[in-house]
Amino acid sequence: MEAARRRAFAIIAHPDAGKTTLTEKLLLRGGAIQLAGQVRAKGDRRRTRSDWMKIEQDRGISVATSVMTFERDGVVFNLLDTPGHEDFSEDTYRTLTAVDAAVMVIDAAKGIEAQTRKLFEVCRLRDIPIITFINKMDRESRDVFELLDEIEKTLALDVTPAAWPVGAGRGFLGTYDMLEPALHLLAEGSGAVKLSGLDDPKIDEMVPAAEVEALREGAELASAFPTFDIEAFRQGTMTPVYFGSALRDFGIGHLLEGLARFAPQPGARPADTRRVQPEEPALTGFVFKIQANMDPNHRDRVAFLRICSGRLEKGMRLRQTRTGKQVPVNAPLFFFAQDRQVAQEAWPGDVVGIANHGILRIGDTLTEGEALNFRGVPSFAPEILRRVMIEDAMVGKKLRTALEQLAEEGVVQLFRPLDGTPPVVGVVGALQLDVLAERLKAEYSVPSRYESTPWGMMRWVASDDKAAMEKFRQSAPHDTAEDHDGALVAFFTSDWRRNRAEEEWPMLKFLKLREQH
Ligand code: GDP
Repeated sequence: MEAARRRAFAIIAHPDAGKTTLTEKLLLRGGAIQLAGQVRAKGDRRRTRSDWMKIEQDRGISVATSVMTFERDGVVFNLLDTPGHEDFSEDTYRTLTAVDAAVMVIDAAKGIEAQTRKLFEVCRLRDIPIITFINKMDRESRDVFELLDEIEKTLALDVTPAAWPVGAGRGFLGTYDMLEPALHLLAEGSGAVKLSGLDDPKIDEMVPAAEVEALREGAELASAFPTFDIEAFRQGTMTPVYFGSALRDFGIGHLLEGLARFAPQPGARPADTRRVQPEEPALTGFVFKIQANMDPNHRDRVAFLRICSGRLEKGMRLRQTRTGKQVPVNAPLFFFAQDRQVAQEAWPGDVVGIANHGILRIGDTLTEGEALNFRGVPSFAPEILRRVMIEDAMVGKKLRTALEQLAEEGVVQLFRPLDGTPPVVGVVGALQLDVLAERLKAEYSVPSRYESTPWGMMRWVASDDKAAMEKFRQSAPHDTAEDHDGALVAFFTSDWRRNRAEEEWPMLKFLKLREQH
């Protein structure tokens, strides 16, 4: 029952589409009124908290991922916030492994943008059901049919309008509910007026004459889109489309209702040995994010655990399956936006924070004893590879420790070249390098600089043929390394080089994506 009323979701959007504004309004609707309007303020407060966050302040972007919990009509929503800046997309990808659904926010004037598309592709990899919210309807927007066509074509996804807009731009009045005939008008506040259908004379009373015909015609033509099919939605092949304005607080209630009704409750999760059902009594979960220094008074690191089955209680001891170690969970943290609250219990679909001193890693599975590992917290092959250099050889050991800890948090990926040369770090976005340098200095007192490398890409080398792996390793000692977990990686200067290697070593696989354990 507790799992069934949970909805764990994320919002995916291109920067500026309105994700922050929508988040604020969702929290407001969810009764977390004291938080509304503070999503941004939270960033400001955080920024003063630790030195490395200065980067956020200087560049005006949000680096940290957080979890927001709110409740409405008996449904517990866990909104996992994802950083919008593309330099931190790795964080975003990992967060998407911990949700059961996503809301895709699209700017009505812009349609599908680069980042929307990338994030959508990650959702598709995992068949995450997507609800689309076309935002900024209060402004000059593109033609609705054109927008829907674009979603359908560029994302190869069936679209079905859950609402149809009444009026557009400055004349935007509200929406007609396509799933259960009703009118939601801005002027009427958040309440819906139920209708018998498009012919209902109430429409003529409530909608200005100039818009009535356009609405009836539009909504009728819209019925040419496939009808909403909850199975197709849950399999990730169809998206219901809502329209609204986050800024004007319109369409939010309708969207939440859609999430509550259609978005799946926590489901079965694949692990290496079997599928884990949420209603199983024993607790299981996996770590998808690690964050340091969320609070200067707690210098520990917080691991974000997505619960997959069972019930988490304060004081439990859980088994980290990677090492077999026991991890005490004395004070699990719920993240009600900015306040750390000690949770009494948590259920599948919830995310809790576990403070620890660097024991937990991204991708770790925790159980009550069973040796299983959840799949699917990915590492992506970074495209920016740099050597980390220090002036003072005395701090070499400190640097290694620092890099290892920061790599565990997922700040950067760390590679130890097999020829013994200085460590190489890999990032998806250049901004991660700034964060690393700043934190090395502020938290570990290790000033460092970067040196370029000849490589433009890396791949994880995998094969059942261990002898071939060893041969490859020996053939290219200067272009190979071990990653943080000791897996073999190969560096390449160009696509051409990589293609050559693939041809020369047919028994090896060169992987762009690696699941962490
Ligand atoms: P994010 O980068 O996706 O988090 O986007 P924000 O929520 O910060 O919004 C970007 C800009 O768009 C801000 O100036 C918002 O005030 C504005 N905005 C967001 N939603 C709406 C909307 O529904 N209508 C209008 N007109 N502006 C909006």
